Amino acid sequence: MSSDRSKDVTPPPLPAPLAVPVADSHTHLDMQSGTVEEGLAKAASVGVTTVVQVGCDVNGSRWAADTAAAHPNVHATVALHPNEAPRIVLGDPDGWSRQGERSAGGDAALDEALAEIDRLAALPHVKGVGETGLDHFRTGPEGIAAQERSFRAHIEIAKRHGKALVIHDRDAHADVLRILKEEGAPERTVFHCYSGDAEMARICAENGYFMSFAGNVTFKNAQPLRDALVAAPRELVLVETDAPFLTPAPYRGRPNAPYLVPVTLRAMAAVKGLDEDTLAAAISANTARAFDY
Ligand SMILES: [Zn+2]
Ligand SMILES: [Zn+2]
Repeated sequence: MSSDRSKDVTPPPLPAPLAVPVADSHTHLDMQSGTVEEGLAKAASVGVTTVVQVGCDVNGSRWAADTAAAHPNVHATVALHPNEAPRIVLGDPDGWSRQGERSAGGDAALDEALAEIDRLAALPHVKGVGETGLDHFRTGPEGIAAQERSFRAHIEIAKRHGKALVIHDRDAHADVLRILKEEGAPERTVFHCYSGDAEMARICAENGYFMSFAGNVTFKNAQPLRDALVAAPRELVLVETDAPFLTPAPYRGRPNAPYLVPVTLRAMAAVKGLDEDTLAAAISANTARAFDY
């Protein structure tokens, strides 16, 4: 990360409300400024009435489960992020884990963390297991074995509890698809921040995998992603912010939050040649089906 002093940290303005309410299928409220209540109220004021709060480590997953228990329109998913699993095994103290947690690492530490994810996955307000998957961008060769073992374990947990599987796939399309095939994908699988091309979208469609599009679909250089969105069947498309990351254009670089879903959804409707209400209705139904709420 560079320390860009000119970075605009002003929250983007409220977009015009959606007439048909939708869900933000993937957000990290615990990494955003303001309270949960403020974030949810702001989102609801523009028609984003439901959010899926995603856990990335043990503490974040507990927080997601607690937050979903306290708010009827928040659903939780729980997991060790693909970049978190190797850190647990390698004992990296500067990892994703907060509160300066240190552990001796090793496979036993990963097993212990997975056991807690398994326990949380059984809770009724936890609707998914993820984000899990593979990240060949941030995790180097020394972490690949741990990452893959963790991914396979999460697939097993999702299936055993009958929860959706939320996939993080960064620069790892072929390996993610291969492992899903080897393990047998859960009944409901969501590719979060979908980043494949049109050909991969057709493979996902054949397998009934949901594809969740984030703000990067609006980026100027993202034509392959828009081609994928065109190829993705309407009944498998979701929308997400992945906030605080991936703020949609024209607000790129400024803080993201669930209230900005309408910006991305409108861009998606234009790409698919649909009016926004039609796409919002489809996305709303798809998200409820994906997470079984
Ligand atoms: Zn992710
Ligand atoms: Zn995420």
